[in-house]
Amino acid sequence: MTTDIQGMMTIGGTPVKGADGVTYAHAALTGEALAPAFGCASADDVERACTLAADAFDAYRALSDERRAAFLEAIAQALIDLGPALTERAHLETALPMARLEGERMRTVNQLKLFAAVVRDGRWHGAIIDPALPQRAPLPRPDLRLRRIGLGPVAVFGASNFPLAFSVAGGDTASALAAGCPVIVKAHPAHLGTSELVGHAIARAARETGMPDGVFSLLIGEGTAVGEALVRHPEIQAVGFTGSRQGGLALQRIAQARPEPIPVYAEMSSINPVVLLPAALETRGEQIASEYADSIVLGTGQFCTNPGIVLALEGAALDAFCAKASQAISAKAATTMLTPNIHAAYCRGVDRLSALADVTTLANGREAAGAFDAVPALLRTDARAFLAEAEMQEEIFGPSSLIVACRDLDELRTVLRRMSGQLTATVHLDEADHEHARALLPTLERKAGRVLFNAFPTGVEVSHAMVHGGPFPATSDTRTTSVGATAIDRFLRPVCYQSVPDTLLPDALKQANPLDIWRLYDGDLKRD
Ligand code: NAP
Repeated sequence: MTTDIQGMMTIGGTPVKGADGVTYAHAALTGEALAPAFGCASADDVERACTLAADAFDAYRALSDERRAAFLEAIAQALIDLGPALTERAHLETALPMARLEGERMRTVNQLKLFAAVVRDGRWHGAIIDPALPQRAPLPRPDLRLRRIGLGPVAVFGASNFPLAFSVAGGDTASALAAGCPVIVKAHPAHLGTSELVGHAIARAARETGMPDGVFSLLIGEGTAVGEALVRHPEIQAVGFTGSRQGGLALQRIAQARPEPIPVYAEMSSINPVVLLPAALETRGEQIASEYADSIVLGTGQFCTNPGIVLALEGAALDAFCAKASQAISAKAATTMLTPNIHAAYCRGVDRLSALADVTTLANGREAAGAFDAVPALLRTDARAFLAEAEMQEEIFGPSSLIVACRDLDELRTVLRRMSGQLTATVHLDEADHEHARALLPTLERKAGRVLFNAFPTGVEVSHAMVHGGPFPATSDTRTTSVGATAIDRFLRPVCYQSVPDTLLPDALKQANPLDIWRLYDGDLKRD
């Protein structure tokens, strides 16, 4: 497989050099532009990718589950076949450590394999059959059969902080392809070369498994024009996005203003509260403090699940926790951020927060050596100040965290109640804390997509039960997840077939169940 980077996009399986200006990838460590220049997509390129995707839709969704699963597995294999060239380029563009990137490649591969298994399993069809009741009085019931089909072509905006797992072949792409939707990715400018390599790998997998041409395209553009045109295009039927709240909301506004509005599944900002209950703080405070410091700096804090807020009761145990966490943070190195803009936003965020009245800086990490290194920061305030100052709830993307001291558990619960939606909410507890935790759980469930105990939220397992979602502003649609097997649901819609002759029904709904899938038949789950 070729691992040369030529500044190319992929449109309907063909490498294309965009002709509407050029843009460059950059080395994250130095900010230097990297050769070669990438050609940017013109309006015609966007049109062609969207038209090809629309043309491919019916052919692609009509393929058997087995063919679609084989395509997803071929993408997984193509990512492995890219070898060290993929992680070396991603390292150059993001400064993320090689070991982390190798781990991320395998996570991406496993994610594709999980969706292949989901497609083969067949439950994704959501088949429901209510057979006709011709004798029913006073009115007979017609034969009613439901299955789910893909929404149509999906536009995907990859994330800067996961150049593999949340980007070109990441979760949004894998779940949309699994649902039978062609995908057009707008490459993230923070890792253009990585995107090209992965885009070509997907095109190769599509060729090898005989997929229709328009099933996948990768577009490159400088500024917002290409992304906006994509979301406006009438053939695009849904959008997957991971990034800033500003970006997610801008795309949602465009999608809602279309003559035919479409859903935008945007994963945006979260500060991921961590609650330390009294017995756990008393008995294990020091250990939790050092795990907390490790979690803050993991990946230079560039995780949407970074523990941005800690809530605990004021007192000697919290003071000891703060002292231990400060000591741990002071020893942490400053490390390079993904882009100069993200670095600048981090520095602004920490400066703004530390300048607020009632916020104390407890500790900073070691001095920055590189121009775009983020110095870890640990800050403290109290619940009264936190409740009065909305700015304290804003995500600071990077290795910082704010400890909020509460007078009692009622005040702690009030802080949680006033918090906006979150991807995660964490509780550290011992057995003596169980009753307090029981009282907090209803609030935590309402606030977050994932509630976890005695752990830190960084690290999102890709599995059947995972939820990486949550109420606004964590995401734009609280009913969904962007990680885990149920991410496929975002790109499906139900269709009911009434009194359709058996030979015309899709296989998932034929009386003889030729796909051998689980179906809800007259109210009972059956596989015969
Ligand atoms: P971003 O600025 O939101 O960009 C994400 C993607 O969306 C890029 O491809 C960007 O393209 C595109 N985009 C953004 N606004 C757009 C618009 N109005 N119209 C069309 N396309 C648009 O995110 P980022 O560059 O990854 O990071 C910036 C900040 O986002 C970070 O400092 C952090 O605060 C936040 N962030 C949060 C998470 C999270 O998981 N919560 C993850 C990553 C970043 P162009 O850049 O080419 O316009």
